[in-house]
Amino acid sequence: MDRRTLLAGGGTLLVATALAREAGARSTRVPTTPEDERFMQLAIEQSKKADHPFGAIIVRDGSVLALGRNSTTRDQDPTAHAEMMAIRAFLSGHEPDDFKTTTIYCSSEPCAMCMGAIIWCGFKRLVYAASIEQVSRHTEQINVTARQIANAAPFADIGISSGLLGQEALKVFDKDKP
Ligand SMILES: [Zn+2]
Repeated sequence: MDRRTLLAGGGTLLVATALAREAGARSTRVPTTPEDERFMQLAIEQSKKADHPFGAIIVRDGSVLALGRNSTTRDQDPTAHAEMMAIRAFLSGHEPDDFKTTTIYCSSEPCAMCMGAIIWCGFKRLVYAASIEQVSRHTEQINVTARQIANAAPFADIGISSGLLGQEALKVFDKDKP
C-alpha cells in the first residue's frame, strides 16, 4: 500500500502512517517477525562463506529469490559487496520493477554504496542485523547510516528493520581474527 492509497483510505490510516514515519523521513521503522529471523539466518550463513563476513538475500512472499556474499578478493572487485552481488543475481532472472515487491536481508547494515543501490532499485523493505557502528569496531566502514541515506532521498519509500540477530552476525567477524 503506498502513501496515495493511505491518503485515499481515510483519516485513521493517515494517522498511523504519520506515527510510523518521522517528520520528513523517507524510511519507516518496521518491526521484525519470526519469518524475518529465518531469512536473516540465511543471510548470516552467506556471510560465513564470504571473503569478508557480509551476506545478503532477497526475498518475496516467503521465497528466497537471490543470494549474495562479499567476494571482493575472489573477484578483485571492490564493489563486490554482498548486497551488490545479491542485486546482480536477482537481475539475472528478474526485471528491475520486481525489486518493488521484495525485501533485502543483510547481515550488516548496508554501506553508503549498497544503500544507495538499494534506494535506486526501489526495494520495499530492508532488514539488517549488525549496525554500521558495531561493524566499524571490526573493520573499516563509511560511517553513514542506512536511514540517513534513505531519508536524504526525496523519492525513497522504504521500510527498515534493524538489529535482528545482530550479535550472531558480529560473531562471524570474531571468527576472522587470527
Ligand atoms: Zn556495501
